This record gives sequence, C-alpha cells and structure tokens, in this order.
Amino acid sequence: MTSLEAYLNQANTAYLDDCTRCGKCVEVCPVTPVAGIDANRSSEIVDEIVGLFDGGPPLGGDSKIWAHQCNGCGVCIPACPEDINPRRMLMLANTSESQVVSETPQLFRKMARAIRIMAAMQLAPPEFQKLTRNPRARDVPVVFYLGCNPIRTPHLLLNAMTILDALEIDYETVGGPGACCGIIHSKWEGEIDKADRVSDGTLTRFEDFTPEHVLSWCPSCVLHLGETIDGYRDTSFNFDHITQFMADRVLQLRDRFVRPVDLRVLLHIHDGMPEIGQNVVQLLADIPGLTIVEALSEPGYTCGGSGADRSPELKKIKRDETIARAEADDVDALVTLFHGCHGQLAKEEGRGKFEVLNWTDLVVEALGETPHADMNKRYRLQQDWDMVLDEGEIYLKSNGVNMDREWLKGLLPDIFAQSEFKGGLESFGTSN
Ligand code: SF4
Ligand code: SF4
Ligand code: SF4
Repeated sequence: MTSLEAYLNQANTAYLDDCTRCGKCVEVCPVTPVAGIDANRSSEIVDEIVGLFDGGPPLGGDSKIWAHQCNGCGVCIPACPEDINPRRMLMLANTSESQVVSETPQLFRKMARAIRIMAAMQLAPPEFQKLTRNPRARDVPVVFYLGCNPIRTPHLLLNAMTILDALEIDYETVGGPGACCGIIHSKWEGEIDKADRVSDGTLTRFEDFTPEHVLSWCPSCVLHLGETIDGYRDTSFNFDHITQFMADRVLQLRDRFVRPVDLRVLLHIHDGMPEIGQNVVQLLADIPGLTIVEALSEPGYTCGGSGADRSPELKKIKRDETIARAEADDVDALVTLFHGCHGQLAKEEGRGKFEVLNWTDLVVEALGETPHADMNKRYRLQQDWDMVLDEGEIYLKSNGVNMDREWLKGLLPDIFAQSEFKGGLESFGTSN
C-alpha cells in the first residue's frame, strides 16, 4: 500500500466515525438551492457521500450533484458542529468516487500538452526556458512553485518573479506538468498509485533546495497539498501562497513604489480563500494613485474547473454581478486574482468598458518596471484563430513546438477554453 493510499484510508475512516450526518453542511451550502438539491434530504445526502468511504455505491441524484458542484467556497466549514471540514470531506469523496468511475481518462496527458502549447506560443525562448526548465538544486530560502496550469498565463508568473526580485529574494522555481501536485491523478483520474508518485516526487523536489518557504501561485495546489492531503508526508518547509509572503513584506515593497498607477479598479476575489484576497488588497493599498473601488467576491476558491465553474448556475449569477459592476463609470480596470480567473476574465476587456489586469501588473508598474506582455489576453481578444496562429507560430517554432497548423487550429478553441467548465472536465483545456 502506498503512503497516499494509507493516508486516504485513515482520513476516510475518520469521516466515517466523526460525521454525525446532521446535514448542516448541505443546508448552508450556497450551491444547494441554486442546483435544485433537496435540503430536506441533507442527512441522507451526507450519508451517501460518507458511504463512499466504506465501499458504498457511486453517487447518484442529489448527492452526486452536491459533490460534483462543490466549488470549494468553504461556507460549510464553520457550520459543522463536529469541527469536521466538509470541504475536505467532499474533495476526498470525489477522489474515492473517481477510483470507481473516472470520467476523465487521459486528462493529465491532454492537460500537459495544452499547457506546453499555450506557454510556447506566448513566450520568447529565454522566458519559455525560465518557466519550464528544471534548475539544478542548490540551497535557497525560497522555492517559487509555479504549478502547471498557471504556465498557461505566463506573464503573471513572470510578473511575480519581478516582485520577488524587487524584494531581493534568492529563489529558484519548480513547475510544469513534471512537478504537478498530484490532484489530477487522485481527484480526477482516480489513480492513487500514480498520484502518490507525483505528489511525493514534487515534495522531494522542493526538499532538494532545502527551502524555508515554498510559495505556490496556484490556489488548487494550496488546497490540495495544504488541506486535502495535508500531512501526508513530513516536510521541512512552510508551504504558503505567494501573496502571503509578499503581504508579510509589504513595507519593503511600499518603499520601492516609485510610479503612480492612476486607476480606479474593481478587484475580483474568491469566497473560498478570503485571506488571499485580503493579501492582495494589502499589496495594492499603498500604490500611489490607485483606488480599489470594491473587492467583489465570487463563489468557489478560484475560477476554473476545480472552483467556481463546478457550480455553473451559481457562478453565472455572481459573474453577471461582477461584469455589471465593472461596467460602471467609476471603474477603469477589473483586476484578477489567479491564473484561472485571468484566463476567463481577460476576454471581457472586449466589451470596451474596462481594462482587465492582474494584481501583479499593478505592483510591477508601481515598482517602476514594465509588466510582462499579456499575450494570453491578446490572443483571447483576437477571437480569430488564424490571426492568433499568424502571431503565435513564430514563438511556437522558436520554442521547438512544431505542429501542423490546421491540426493546431482545430485544437486552440479547446485549449483556450480552459475557463468554460463543460460539466465533466472533458475539455482537456480545463484548468484547476
Ligand atoms: S465548500 Fe462550499 S460548495 Fe463545497 S460543500 Fe462546502 S459550502 Fe458547499
Ligand atoms: S456538518 Fe459536519 S457532522 Fe454534520 S453532516 Fe456535515 S460534515 Fe457531518
Ligand atoms: S493544482 Fe493544478 S496547476 Fe496546481 S500543480 Fe496541481 S495540477 Fe498543476
């Protein structure tokens, strides 16, 4: 038995013992009323979920809808009278279920291909290398964990590196599909042996650098490694989101802000990781000239197939509110949080009412540097795949990605549709 399997067995048994099936988590869940789940059946629904941990049948009806539409918002966590984390319980239930009914065969392979193509068509070779290389291990205080899907929106990561440079941090990067956190293999593909090898390999890779801090960009990595399988392996570093590390050094950054950013912005944040939204508010608060008109939260812990897109009806309601607020006359720019959010919201700039920027663009600008080019947004706004390929082909070729143009053209809509959840993650462009 692998360590991950042993860990999951222990975690699942604890839920079988500790959960009283009181149903409070179903009742408070914002997805319940919108998805048409019968809250009067809350105890039975949880009983079916927990039954998965005891070899019960695959989910059906309301329990399936509830588990599959969990967007990770975390509203249920304080509601549990037994101090159980129902969000984690559902993540583990989805993992258990995917071992029996995997709806996403080959997801990882397809995802890795999509990531490589997207990054290669946006970056000149030195930057492509910077994000995809495998640096030689050396002792550093900080490892910046790029994850894999964030590399689809590479300018955000490069901006974050500019900020770390401004803080004079000695760091190395670890990332790309070869350093996945393992969530795809466990939660989506149900391959626990493989997930164990992947998670273990990535944690070992971090250890190779003997860092004090491993900083993740990807909120899904934070949730997976920091909550769902937290403690599965002993580690000697602090694992946190990069915004926390930066917010802890906000005074140093503030001293380096030399350029005003004269914008009134609407900040897009998420319910499931409110602390990350607060970190970004703190980082932006002292940028000269900048006004945060409002920080507007959307459901889930991120946009994308592991977050808000899992509960599409609820997401639509809140997304319409975000866009309406961003279109008001007092907003110049909609500011995104994570890579999944940026990938989705970038195209909204095409409405002609507001710019779409990421928080890193604003911090880099305030530091007197030039934010990295947002080619992802540029391509999304073109909405013509021939034009996109006319521009992207030279980058692809110079990064060693040689593919038949017509074949690639057929692939691009799916690859770029990372944001649009299609009800079963069948789109290999799906991000998490
Ligand atoms: S995390 Fe949010 S969506 Fe998931 S069960 Fe809890 S309240 Fe519902
Ligand atoms: S609220 Fe807690 S104890 Fe009650 S059903 Fe949900 S997880 Fe179990
Ligand atoms: S959570 Fe997603 S982006 Fe982050 S490492 Fe895992 S698979 Fe990659």
